[in-house]
Amino acid sequence: MPLLRSSSALVIRCFKSVENCADWITGAAGPVFVTLAWLLIVAGGIGFFDVIARQLPIFLSILLSPIFFLVPLNLYGQYYLVTHVPPGFPSSRAMGLSPHRALSTDTESRWLVPKPSSIFSAERWGLGKRGMPLSGMDGYADIRAQGKRVRRCRKCDGPKPERTHHCSVCKRCVLMMDHHCPWINACVGLHNQRHFVLFMAWLSIACWTVGMLGFKRFWESFDYHSPWPCYTPRIVFTLVYVLALAIGIAVPVLMSWHLYMVSNGETSIESHDNDYLGRKAKAEGLIYLNPYDLGRRRNLETFFNIGPNGYPMTTLLFPLLIPPASNGWSFPRRPLPSLSQHRPTVDLHSPELSAGLMSSSAEHGHASHNAGGYVMGDEDGLTDDEEGGGGWMD
Ligand SMILES: [Zn+2]
Ligand SMILES: [Zn+2]
Repeated sequence: MPLLRSSSALVIRCFKSVENCADWITGAAGPVFVTLAWLLIVAGGIGFFDVIARQLPIFLSILLSPIFFLVPLNLYGQYYLVTHVPPGFPSSRAMGLSPHRALSTDTESRWLVPKPSSIFSAERWGLGKRGMPLSGMDGYADIRAQGKRVRRCRKCDGPKPERTHHCSVCKRCVLMMDHHCPWINACVGLHNQRHFVLFMAWLSIACWTVGMLGFKRFWESFDYHSPWPCYTPRIVFTLVYVLALAIGIAVPVLMSWHLYMVSNGETSIESHDNDYLGRKAKAEGLIYLNPYDLGRRRNLETFFNIGPNGYPMTTLLFPLLIPPASNGWSFPRRPLPSLSQHRPTVDLHSPELSAGLMSSSAEHGHASHNAGGYVMGDEDGLTDDEEGGGGWMD
């Protein structure tokens, strides 16, 4: 038996080092991916204006001029923002683990709380927020003032509010983490996910514009006898066009998936958790409810921070720094549906599910055993706490 135990420990250690190695590669390859992304979108822009736009009839050019202006503005603007705006971190305490990030606090806050005079500020362009401004940037103090406890991250020893996850590439906790993206060399989280989704949307429009308007030029690029009055070499344009088609298919699919999750009030990580919990609850004869699902329309309005209490819809058309609707430490939750006469109360008998859902949900007043067959998730992330959580902050 000791042999079995020590060999399984060895296997676990091997897996861990492979995992750490993969994280290191993802981190180290980040700048390469970002450089490549800039090269591709700049090549696409040059290819479009040099090869495609110059052969368009004048009336079509005038008709499409808003697109010719907005697409490059947003494509480059949103990519610039998504690579510069940090996703948001619950604490600077965790920075000790990552010395190269230790000096970046000032730059980070410059992006998180933009000056009204900044060129990226919506207020500067007369597109200010309609509702109350976001208050309480010191989320930890806010939560403590409400008499609530905050979890501690086992890996970086910092506070870990609800919806926060630890990124093993960034080596710190990220507020409302969605995923780590090598294409932006950062995590996608609370503060930059809006830019991430909007960048995908504008990239899709850009690729479709190139695909539809550049079709004729694409065939001409193969005909070496035809005149080619452009600065861009034929072969470069052929490559740009093929890439635009491929990206124009892949990115809209990814974007739709993200928008679907956003409209469900969940992040990529929570989507996995909710799927799992939903199946588990169904097997118990219960209906699982995502606590952050406020209804499709409100989920989308909250995500983009637009609507009656947010910024005007027009902010979607420009690369502006729009702060998130929440400070990342607490989020509005849906109410539990009223008791149904027809639905019999089913007791949970799966101890895991019961521990993960019912006890803590009941503690927060969101569900109870006589709630009519509904269960609601809580802030306990499943994905990065497999080895046990880090307890609570003092
Ligand atoms: Zn952490
Ligand atoms: Zn990350």
